Amino acid sequence: MGEVKLLGVWKKFEDVTAVKDITLEVKDGEFMILLGPSGCGKTTTLRMISGLEEPTKGQIYIGDKLVADPEKGVFVPPKDRDIAMVFQSYALYPHMTVYDNIAFPLKLRKVPKQEIDKRVREVAELLGLSQLLNRKPRELSGGQRQRVALGRAIVRKPQVFLMDEPLSNLDAKLRVKMRAELKKLQRQLSVTTIYVTHDQVEAMTMGDKIAVINQGVLQQVGTPEEVYDKPANTFVAGFIGSPPMNFMDGSVTEDGFVDFGEFRLKLLPDQFEVLKEQGYVGREVIFGIRPEDIYDAMFAQVKVPGENMVKAMVEIVENLGGERIVYLSTEDISFIAKFPPESKVKEGQKIEVVFDMKKIHIFDKNAKKAIF
Ligand code: ATP
Repeated sequence: MGEVKLLGVWKKFEDVTAVKDITLEVKDGEFMILLGPSGCGKTTTLRMISGLEEPTKGQIYIGDKLVADPEKGVFVPPKDRDIAMVFQSYALYPHMTVYDNIAFPLKLRKVPKQEIDKRVREVAELLGLSQLLNRKPRELSGGQRQRVALGRAIVRKPQVFLMDEPLSNLDAKLRVKMRAELKKLQRQLSVTTIYVTHDQVEAMTMGDKIAVINQGVLQQVGTPEEVYDKPANTFVAGFIGSPPMNFMDGSVTEDGFVDFGEFRLKLLPDQFEVLKEQGYVGREVIFGIRPEDIYDAMFAQVKVPGENMVKAMVEIVENLGGERIVYLSTEDISFIAKFPPESKVKEGQKIEVVFDMKKIHIFDKNAKKAIF
C-alpha cells in the first residue's frame, strides 16, 4: 500500500540544516500538504521522499519498503520507488504530441503497445484531454499543459504522487480551477499524494492533512480545520489565515481577565480555570484572535461593556466587496478585524468592537506554544 513514513529525518547541506528531525506519517490514499514559508525545507523533504536527495539521518518508508536509511546504507533510487513527480516547471517534451508525452513513461518501461494505448486514452478521458492528443505542447493553454504533466504522472499508476508547487506557474483564475480539478482527481484515484506549497489557501482547500514546517522543523500536522482552529503555536496561528491572527501581549489577572493596560477582556470561566491550573495567573501571555472573530458592536449579539468590548479608532478600511478588512487601533495596540459589507464604518471614526471570547487563543509568552 502507499503509506509514506518519515522517522527522525534530517538533512544537512554543508552549513545549512534544511530539515531537522521530521517524523511524519502519510496514510494510504491521503492528500498531505507540506506547507511553510520559502526556505523552510519542504522541497528538500519531498526530494528525500522521491530519492533525489539522501537524508543525513533517519528512515523513510514507502509502503512497507525501507527506501532510505543512511545508518543501514539503504538508498533506493527514484526509479525503483514507485512514485511519480509533478513539478512547478512541468517540462513536457516539446517535439512530442500530447499522446506521446503521456505515453512516454510507459514506453520507457516497455509496456506493450496495446496496453499503452488503452492507458493513455483512459487518462486523457479522465483529464479532458481526449480531443487534444495529437497536439504539441506549444498548441496548448497553460492549464492544458499542466493537465498533460499530470497525465504523464498518473499513467503509470504509482503508489505515491509527489508534487512541488505544480500550480504556481498558472495565472490566478486557472490556479483556482486546477486546484479543484486536482483535488477531484486525487479523490477519484485515491493515490497517496504529498504536495508542497507555500500557499495557505491551496493547503486549506486541497489537503486532507496539512504539515506545517518552519525552519526545517515540523510545527503541526492536522486537518485544515485543526490547524486553523487549534494552532499548536504562534507560528502556525500566524501563518494560516488571511489577514493573519492578531496577537497582543497581556497578563492574566486574579479576577479572570486578560489585562492589556488600556483595556481588559474577561475570560470565560473554563478558560480561566485552565490558565489557573497551569499557573498563568499574574503572568504575561500572548493573546490571539482572528480578524473574523472581532465584530462591529452594531452587529454583535453578545456585548458586555467592560468584559468583551473595546473602543477603537478606524485607521483604514479595505473594501473587498464581500467583506471589509478594517485596521483598528487604541492608544498602544493595533489590530485587524473583518466586517461584513453591511458595516459602514469609516476611516477616522471611533467605534466599539466586540471580541468573541469563545474564539480566543492564549499562548505561552516564551515557548510560543498554545495553552488553548
Ligand atoms: P521554497 O518554497 O523557496 O522552494 P523550501 O521550503 O522548499 O523553499 P528548501 O528548498 O527545502 O526550502 O530549502 C531549505 C533550505 O536548504 C534553504 O535554506 C536552502 O537554501 C537550503 N538548500 C536547499 N538545497 C540545498 C543544496 N543543494 N545545497 C545547500 N543548501 C541547500
